[in-house]
Amino acid sequence: MKLRPEILASPVYRQGRAAGADAFKLSSNENPFPPLPAVLAAITAELEINRYPDATAAALRGTLAARLGTTADEVIIGSGSVALLQQFILAAAGPGDEVAYSWRSFEAYPTMVTVAGATSVPVPNRADGGHDLPALADAITPRTRVVIVCSPNNPTGVTVTAEEFTAFMETVPSDLLVLLDEAYAEFVREPEAVDGRELIGRYPNLVILRTFSKAYGLAGLRVGWATGPEAILDAARATAIPLSVTGLAQVAAEASLEAEAELLERVEKITVRRTAFIDALRAQGWNIPASESNFIWLALGDHTLRAAERFFDAGLVTRPFAGDGVRISIGEEESLTPLLTVAQEILTELPTGHPARA
Ligand SMILES: *Cc1c(COP(=O)(O)O)cnc(C)c1O
Repeated sequence: MKLRPEILASPVYRQGRAAGADAFKLSSNENPFPPLPAVLAAITAELEINRYPDATAAALRGTLAARLGTTADEVIIGSGSVALLQQFILAAAGPGDEVAYSWRSFEAYPTMVTVAGATSVPVPNRADGGHDLPALADAITPRTRVVIVCSPNNPTGVTVTAEEFTAFMETVPSDLLVLLDEAYAEFVREPEAVDGRELIGRYPNLVILRTFSKAYGLAGLRVGWATGPEAILDAARATAIPLSVTGLAQVAAEASLEAEAELLERVEKITVRRTAFIDALRAQGWNIPASESNFIWLALGDHTLRAAERFFDAGLVTRPFAGDGVRISIGEEESLTPLLTVAQEILTELPTGHPARA
């Protein structure tokens, strides 16, 4: 069969191992809380599924625009912000072009760049798991068409500061598209961290992406949004798969915005849980990055797969990245005690001087 060689060489996406019924699924940074009754009610009222959805999600764009202080045309809705990332990359980069991003970061980036026919330029993270923005700026060449900045970074959880980001934007050519992926923004408590909403309208080349999947608990419905200059968004609208944002996703997102106060209380609980978990791990002797997201990162290196196996055997499904580390989502409160028990065992077996040791 004549298929594209770079596609044949791409790793096939396989979702994390299925959790047993009584296991904790801590592998996809999902929200552990069940959907709010108001959100379920909104979906149930929208069951005209014999009809196509509103192709541009105009109502949801209007609601978001009013909150952001933009026009509705400066907002785009996608079937998850992953879909939007793909649309922007397809709009800007093709064969012979480069897309630069910090690495390790979101595992979807390399594949999306390959699908566009472009070339990835991964720039190593700093030792603390944060982006090395000066190095990322240095990696820009005349062939670079997109730069992705992920804050907080998945899977390390480390944020880019507002100061670092502003300095970065000053050095980047103003016609080079910068995607600021803020999938975990709602979990950030660090006051120095960049907040894309404060940068709206400031740069002609900046797009900010957010999602309803994590903090808002709608991962299963697939809905995310982005805001930026209308011309860039129009280019991304041209590369979309038509009608991929369902009506159910649109009304659920709107209902979630209406119920935001209640949802953000849950987010607060998760951030408190995260801080307690990080403190407890550090007290055990772990060296872990300062996560501002709903997950933490154990830089286990060669011990990664063995450690993930230990967690799995204890009913804890984590996300291993072979040779690099294990990402653990902040889930149910009851998962913390078994996590800490296994983490202690794993740490005891790490050789002295291992980077994951403090
Ligand atoms: C989860 C995630 C997304 C978005 O996921 P969707 O469910 O497609 O909205 C985007 N970027 C990063 C870094 C993520 O971790």
